[in-house]
Amino acid sequence: MASEIASLKGDHWQESMKLAIRDPQELLKALGLKREDLSWSADGQLAFPLFAPLEFVSRMEIGNPRDPLFLQVWPASEESHVLSDYVSDPVGDLAVEKAPGLLHKYQGRVLMIASGACAIHCRYCFRRHYPYDSAPKSIQQWEASFETIEQDASIREVILSGGDPLTLVDVTLDRWLDRIESIPHVHRLRIHTRLPVVIPSRVTETFIDRLARSRLAVWVVLHINHANEIDEQVASAIERLQGAGATVLNQAVLLRGVNDNADALSQLFERLIDLQVGPYYLHQLDRVQGAAHWEVSEAYGRELIAEVRKRLPGYAVPLYVREISGEAHKTPL
Ligand SMILES: *Cc1c(COP(=O)(O)O)cnc(C)c1O
Ligand code: SF4
Repeated sequence: MASEIASLKGDHWQESMKLAIRDPQELLKALGLKREDLSWSADGQLAFPLFAPLEFVSRMEIGNPRDPLFLQVWPASEESHVLSDYVSDPVGDLAVEKAPGLLHKYQGRVLMIASGACAIHCRYCFRRHYPYDSAPKSIQQWEASFETIEQDASIREVILSGGDPLTLVDVTLDRWLDRIESIPHVHRLRIHTRLPVVIPSRVTETFIDRLARSRLAVWVVLHINHANEIDEQVASAIERLQGAGATVLNQAVLLRGVNDNADALSQLFERLIDLQVGPYYLHQLDRVQGAAHWEVSEAYGRELIAEVRKRLPGYAVPLYVREISGEAHKTPL
């Protein structure tokens, strides 16, 4: 696997997307695991198939069925448990859609579902049931949304999200940035992405140059849940983003079996601040259908944060939040 990654040259991230593991059997083989060691969900696999790039898989521990990175991508049988308070749109995205793919939930900020594709399928994802097919496919189709932003001078920040906006190729992103920069009252660009973590080569020279040239204040919000996700390549991708003038933050989700202990959280947050990445949010799990087995109670989450606060500098402790539909901001717990 390491040799397959090493043989890829230059800006090979699209090749990495093609080489990503989609076959559960192949993932088990790569990690020396047996089907009997694990639970398995045929339902989850069909609705939201396994997708794990080799770069991410290479950071998993061989032979460990409880590996925190493996658990995040493995379709477990618990996903087919149906619970009435776990729904398809737990955060009320569809109610705040101003145009297809344009979400205006909070003052001054709009979020655009710039791409429905991701470079990894995280089993607990709150948008795993989002109707991506109805969102615009080309930059031309987004024009109505850009005009909506143009007509509302209260919008100061555009958030590119998804899916993962960095699944768009550099020429397309260039057009997105041109269009956003053409709206005078927009001052800030925020990019919500997991790509620099799962395929660090996505942070290309072309992309970095484009960010550096932007008149917008650029914030990049990564999504990392465990310190093992950060290897040298990820650290270097983060450095390149910072070199382009972007401020890099991280959001994590509190996940049972992955990071629900004070050691795992402290290690993650400390690794982040060593890289000058601000731990922004720790999210309480959104109750999306199929994700009930990931939940950690709020009471326990608060205990964990209290413990982390004893160990780390104040700026290393993220805001522990839950998203409640209809609220004007994410709710601190
Ligand atoms: C979370 C979210 C944002 C960003 O919220 P911040 O608190 O500014 O990080 C914006 N729009 C939508 C729809 C969101 O879900
Ligand atoms: S990368 Fe983000 S949007 Fe994509 S599956 Fe993971 S959590 Fe969901």
